[in-house]
Amino acid sequence: MMNAVLELRAVTKTFTDGGARGTRHAAVSGVSLALARGSFFSLLGPSGCGKTTTLRMIAGFETPDSGEIVLNGNCIDALAPYQRSVNTVFQNYALFPHLTVRGNIEFGLKQRGKPSAGDAAERVARLLVQLQLDGKESRRPGELSGGERQRVALARALVLEPEVLLLDEPLSALDPRLRKQVRAELKDLQRRTGITFLMVTHDQEEALSLSDSMAVMNRGRIEQTGTPEDLYRRPATKFVASFLGAMNWLDGVGVRPEAVRLSRVESAHSLRASVANIVFLGAASHVDVRVEGGEVLTVQTAPGELWNAGEAVFVSWDSSDEHRFVSECV
Ligand code: ADP
Ligand code: MG
Repeated sequence: MMNAVLELRAVTKTFTDGGARGTRHAAVSGVSLALARGSFFSLLGPSGCGKTTTLRMIAGFETPDSGEIVLNGNCIDALAPYQRSVNTVFQNYALFPHLTVRGNIEFGLKQRGKPSAGDAAERVARLLVQLQLDGKESRRPGELSGGERQRVALARALVLEPEVLLLDEPLSALDPRLRKQVRAELKDLQRRTGITFLMVTHDQEEALSLSDSMAVMNRGRIEQTGTPEDLYRRPATKFVASFLGAMNWLDGVGVRPEAVRLSRVESAHSLRASVANIVFLGAASHVDVRVEGGEVLTVQTAPGELWNAGEAVFVSWDSSDEHRFVSECV
């Protein structure tokens, strides 16, 4: 049995739109999750699928309608947010603009009145170094770069040494060039601190690259949980398959672009096709081919391969690379 630090057991949350006479809709439906202690766990899903609501229930800012949230084996549903050993890094960081870097980081400590002053100073000093903010402790958020602001938000949440750090789309406010670098830093920070991270994101690449385990969420429900490799290689539903990377759909079978081979020579089981369009992606290209019969397939080709629009080709793939789905997920 996994040493779970945090468990959600069939957690449901329904909101009423438009006041008392409005319609009710479930933002989160029967969500169950178990996070291994010290792991990096991601909750991945499109905008509006219930990720933030799930985090807010864990933090204690929303109350579940039913189900249970269990931290270290104890149900925490009756505890106020400040009594829970979880802290949140909010999507917009929610830093105090009038406080300095140090003031922002110390804020949480003062609120909870722990630990002793000497301990607190030592913790803050350690985090300033760990997050490369030393030398910047007197600046205010307005005098920091986006990446630095994010590190202050991380430090402010980590200073309380939570059992679980909750991160709501932590990279989305950064400019795309910074995102990859900060992504690596986040993973490194999680390893060094050994704190369990629960990140929610709509970015599949982020979830795949950072997580030890992850869950894919759709319309308030968990569709599949597993390692990134499990989910990518063995998606349980069409939704998971297409949300995690590209997929060609033919006759109830899915085939990933990287599993399709393109050739000028016919072979057993190959299909006759013609090149319709070529998209250069740098490290690879995506070649769209129109198969005889009309379907368009995307094929990922290696750099250096040269294909021309309009030329006749043959496509093939191994049957072991076909993904079949028994039923469509609602
Ligand atoms: P995500 O973070 O995945 O984008 P959210 O958890 O924010 O999704 O929202 C899930 C659903 O719940 C959405 O349909 C959203 O409009 C709705 N919702 C979230 N918070 C509230 C609220 N306070 N009142 C009513 N509906 C809400
Ligand atoms: Mg959200």
